[in-house]
Amino acid sequence: MVTLLRTLGILALAVAILWMVVSEVVFHEARATQVRILLGAGAVLLVASLILSVFSRLSSKMAGRRCPRCGKPVQQGHTYCQDHLKEAVDQFRDDQRKKGHLG
Ligand SMILES: [Zn+2]
Repeated sequence: MVTLLRTLGILALAVAILWMVVSEVVFHEARATQVRILLGAGAVLLVASLILSVFSRLSSKMAGRRCPRCGKPVQQGHTYCQDHLKEAVDQFRDDQRKKGHLG
């Protein structure tokens, strides 16, 4: 999606520049309005692709939290998946107990 928008944007800008050159060389008149529309469309497409890529990166960062033990995706705000959360809590409790016995 992002790549498509970026490609279209670059294409529109290329066509705008090409059209600017062609209209001046072939038709001997500057078609400023058409060129401006194409340039505007290209700029809009490029900006849209930029915004989309930033958003997709942000959402993947938020949704991309994974359990460090098994790599399963975990709920927002959690470090471990359901299985390993219990395991981590148990281990933490064991460690505390051991420390208590030793100290
Ligand atoms: Zn896990």
